Amino acid sequence: MSELQQSYRHLPKHFYSDVLPEPAIDSRLIDLNPDIIETLNLTWDEKTLHEMTAGKLTSKQPQPIAQKYTGHQFGYYNPDLGDGRGMLLGDIQTDTGRYDLHLKGAGQTPYSRRGDGRAVLRSSVREYLIGEALHYLDVPSSRCLSLCHSPEPVRRERFEDRATYIRVAKTHIRFGHFEWLAELGSRQDFYKLADFVIESVYPQLQSLPAGDKYVELLKTIVANTAKLIAKWQAVGFCHGVMNSDNMSVAGETFDFGPFAFLDDFQIHYICNHSDTEGRYAYSQQPNIGLWNCQVLAQAFLTIIDQKHIQPILDTYVTTYNQTYLNHMGAKFGLDQIQETQREFIGNSLILMDQSQIDFHQFFHKLSRLNPSNPESFYQFVGHSKAWRNWCAEYLEHAQENPHADSLKQSNLIRTQTAKFVLRNGILQRIIEQCEKGDYELLKQTREWLKTPFEPAGELVEHFPEFLQPPAGNEKAIALSCSS
Ligand code: AMP
Ligand code: MG
Repeated sequence: MSELQQSYRHLPKHFYSDVLPEPAIDSRLIDLNPDIIETLNLTWDEKTLHEMTAGKLTSKQPQPIAQKYTGHQFGYYNPDLGDGRGMLLGDIQTDTGRYDLHLKGAGQTPYSRRGDGRAVLRSSVREYLIGEALHYLDVPSSRCLSLCHSPEPVRRERFEDRATYIRVAKTHIRFGHFEWLAELGSRQDFYKLADFVIESVYPQLQSLPAGDKYVELLKTIVANTAKLIAKWQAVGFCHGVMNSDNMSVAGETFDFGPFAFLDDFQIHYICNHSDTEGRYAYSQQPNIGLWNCQVLAQAFLTIIDQKHIQPILDTYVTTYNQTYLNHMGAKFGLDQIQETQREFIGNSLILMDQSQIDFHQFFHKLSRLNPSNPESFYQFVGHSKAWRNWCAEYLEHAQENPHADSLKQSNLIRTQTAKFVLRNGILQRIIEQCEKGDYELLKQTREWLKTPFEPAGELVEHFPEFLQPPAGNEKAIALSCSS
């Protein structure tokens, strides 16, 4: 049986504060995620899991803690951050590694500043489901174990119902943890945290000599971040608030806010309507990933030599490019991408942007493109000269592909292009059901997200609209940071 430890307590006392959750009143358990129960090998009964999720301390758990960190928010350093709306319940060692359990929306901590420490149902439902969506698209992400709903009103732009949930991630250590230690200037503390990350997330680095270990740690975090963001781009995911305190050192998608999957392809799509400058627009995510890695590298100067920094940042660029081209090439049915095709992919995206074409539908239509009769493809993209030229060029690239075979190419596109995409319009429908106390659609969706490439029969039969681009009024819903 798995046991909940509080390993973070082995670190110095000023790294965290002891906290107690503020239990949610009259809470109802919306859902337990059977996948996570299995991964963690949990044997706690439903009552215990419900109590833990609702913020009641049970006999199964150590005292929670709130972690201190800092970070760059929208480009500016904020020294005043930490777990203000969540607390670490502890960690569990499994055969596949260590996982943190973190209770979100459990009330105020010393880092809450003026916030209430609570979470609302809307954003909690979104986080609960997006972790599943990304995981089954092969995009590393934190996920959720459980979700509760309480009728307590929480004040945001309007009053909303309160929710609490347990988030599970390889670690809750963010880039911002290291930024904070760099600010303190304590090499000793920096080493302690770096060793803790190695032990809990990257144990394969443990045996390296001290002179290499921390350089390799930074390099591994940077490479994992580059891979992650390349995958976001390929699946059309926009995070929305890529502040450095929302970047996990495990390279997992983390700390969700106003995220969105693309609908109509807009290169500069901004999913967060508080992001007036478009700092975190879809097109900016790769650059911001690098920017955040630069901030992390700067912090690592506390313990490593400057000469290592540029080669590590170069790793970001090469890893990103390679991962992105592999994924995007496959999305176009081109399995061994050539240099000339790189430019072709970029130009294709510009044309899609100009034509306001649904990002996901485009690739489905492409997988059905009949080279000798492209009419139905033109019906979708438009009969313009630009698309006719595009199509001719595409077929040339497809011919050059070492495995030129239209059936294989179609299949390759299908393995990369989900039919069921958790668009914001769908989430909105689920939230409305949950707000009425009906959790069935959420549970069904959690199951359906397991097979995004081959949607379940029930989904196809009863919710065919979930497999289609959204209607006009549901398109590209932009959300605010408030959650
Ligand atoms: P976020 O934008 O969610 O990444 O949060 C940025 C910082 O504000 C973190 O230190 C959070 O813990 C804190 N925070 C966000 N919302 C709240 C809230 N409702 N109550 C307390 N702290 C919050
Ligand atoms: Mg955050």
